[in-house]
Amino acid sequence: MSVIVLADLKAKNGSVNKDTVAGGYGSRFQADSVTTRFAKNVRKVFLNVPSIHIGYLAAIFAREGHKVIVARDDKPVKGDIALVLTSLVDYKHEREWAKRARASGMKVGFFGTPATHLPELFMAAGDFVISGEPEAAAIDLARGKDLSGLVVSPAIDDLDSLPFPRWDLVKTKRFGYASHNGGGLTRALPMLTSRSCPEHCTYCPHRITASFRQRSVENVVDEMEELYGRYKNLHIKIRDPLFTLDRERCFNIAEEIQSRNLKLSLECETRMDDLDEKLIRAMHAAGLREISFGVESPDPLVLKKVARRFIPHEHMRNMVKLCWELGIATIGFYVIGFLQDTEESIEELIRFACDLDTNYANFKILTPYPGTPQFKQLKPLIFETDWEKFDGYTLTFNHPVLTPRRARLMLGMAYSRYIARPSQLMNWMGLHKYSHHPLLQKADAWSWRKQDHFDRPWLAERKATS
Ligand code: SF4
Repeated sequence: MSVIVLADLKAKNGSVNKDTVAGGYGSRFQADSVTTRFAKNVRKVFLNVPSIHIGYLAAIFAREGHKVIVARDDKPVKGDIALVLTSLVDYKHEREWAKRARASGMKVGFFGTPATHLPELFMAAGDFVISGEPEAAAIDLARGKDLSGLVVSPAIDDLDSLPFPRWDLVKTKRFGYASHNGGGLTRALPMLTSRSCPEHCTYCPHRITASFRQRSVENVVDEMEELYGRYKNLHIKIRDPLFTLDRERCFNIAEEIQSRNLKLSLECETRMDDLDEKLIRAMHAAGLREISFGVESPDPLVLKKVARRFIPHEHMRNMVKLCWELGIATIGFYVIGFLQDTEESIEELIRFACDLDTNYANFKILTPYPGTPQFKQLKPLIFETDWEKFDGYTLTFNHPVLTPRRARLMLGMAYSRYIARPSQLMNWMGLHKYSHHPLLQKADAWSWRKQDHFDRPWLAERKATS
């Protein structure tokens, strides 16, 4: 028996998420205004879930009789082998931790998306770097294989063959909570019912490590049943990039949850065109309480340039409206800084987000992630050499219109316009039915004009000089 240390290190400075966020590259949100500080703290509470691959690796090593320790901080820890979850936004910290672990006598390996697509960042700091989804290499390691150098770990096709994540070994109490409409704060754990995505959005890092595979309905609900039996009032975050791709499978999962009488609270990520009223109602009956979805840009031409299919705005509005009726929280994802973007188009995007009126919105700055087609396309324009700045909220390439400072200001503007509008305050007070009242719409328009003085001072300068 060996002692295996799984390092899922907590980063300092800002709200940092690793593992399944940005396809495993991770994100670091730093605040520079009242509204971004608010957004950062929301993230710290609601997105603080353990990393899913740590749960899987803990299960694989425990199954072979090894002792598993999960390290979250920089305190020295004793073990035989350490596996470090990598991110782009915190890779220097991860490397330093690995060097110290190695100096203390442990054999050290790295895994995760950056280890897969930028192994050169980690090679000198450890004994081996796993390229690909880590489970196949972990199974070899757990069965006594000696790993060194670059280790190619093939994706496991039969996801049902994997053991369920061992959250009992991860000490989940150190992690945070999720929330859903009306339910207050609830402890949350992540789950993957499928991996990767068969769509072709050129900027997306979720689809670059392995091809799309999904677990059987029975296997998925077996895991849910196990969690239901073990944890009280648990909220399950389904972290599949595209959960509702297979409509029939979703109906079957919903049906199976109900037939086993599991009282679950669930959330998922998906595309809005893979949702319809019947499916939403069926999933709601099975416990769905939150849906996140990418809007990215409301402009069909912008989306076409990045190979993302356009979703009619009316369809999105109808789905969000239905979710409000059912009490399902919605979160829209938006991207600022596509090559065609101008300040005017970004303003349109923010107005669209306010009008769509989801419970929350997540605005990011376009980031060319290594391994994506977009990285190749933008490579000649990339000026940033510090990989930690590829954090999802920093402009790292020469944009035709935006400077890094202006992009960041527009990002701050997006959050302040979205959060600090009177109708949103009504939403958060549980009074959504009034948020489209003409008086509130007038108040929103007034607040928009007032905020120009604070977060777009250059407009006033322009007016003064024209
Ligand atoms: S649909 Fe979503 S997960 Fe799939 S490739 Fe596009 S952005 Fe990525």
